[in-house]
Amino acid sequence: MFGRVFDFLFPLECIACGASGAHACRACLASVPLAPQSWRLPELRASAAFAYGHPFVRRLLHDVKFERWTCARPALEALAGRWAVKVGKGFCPPETVVVSVPLHARKLRERGFNQAAFLADGIAATLGLRRGDAWLSRVVRTRPQTEAENRARNVVGAFHAQSSVSMRGRPVLLVDDVWTTGATMRECAKALRQAGAGQVFGFALAWGRGEKEKLRR
Ligand SMILES: [Zn+2]
Repeated sequence: MFGRVFDFLFPLECIACGASGAHACRACLASVPLAPQSWRLPELRASAAFAYGHPFVRRLLHDVKFERWTCARPALEALAGRWAVKVGKGFCPPETVVVSVPLHARKLRERGFNQAAFLADGIAATLGLRRGDAWLSRVVRTRPQTEAENRARNVVGAFHAQSSVSMRGRPVLLVDDVWTTGATMRECAKALRQAGAGQVFGFALAWGRGEKEKLRR
């Protein structure tokens, strides 16, 4: 609601070129180079689409996460859609269920939304896959950590997957906004596997991260 009033008072302009009508215009979105990176880990096979170091990508993620500007949502979905079309088709089987990396319930209440769920919606719609966020929850509110080793320790046991008949043997595509060390997704994948899910895949919109943002997660 407030977002709409805000949009009325301050019409949207592209953050890169100033064109009116959207927080990020189509031409600027199309100009961001798709730079997929992939990882094969014991827990999951993952792909991340864009360099976090690209200022446009960094700004969009910052706006939605820290400014809570949901007007950046269509732009993030469009970027995720570019990965889905180019890389996502064939990345995971057609019976895959798309699950976003959850926020802790308290964090979700504070922010009002989970940006990873926006991305998961976009990916699922583009690839024609089912969504299944009810399968996974974050049971421990983790503290921001900077070092890789701390990050890994920080998320151990942080997630719980609710076992269900529909989950049994089902491949899962986990979706997050940024891939830093992969510790979060690996922990999510472990919880899902323990609850009976099939093979786990991972998608993150961006890989790598600036030092400043690392501290603010
Ligand atoms: Zn533009």
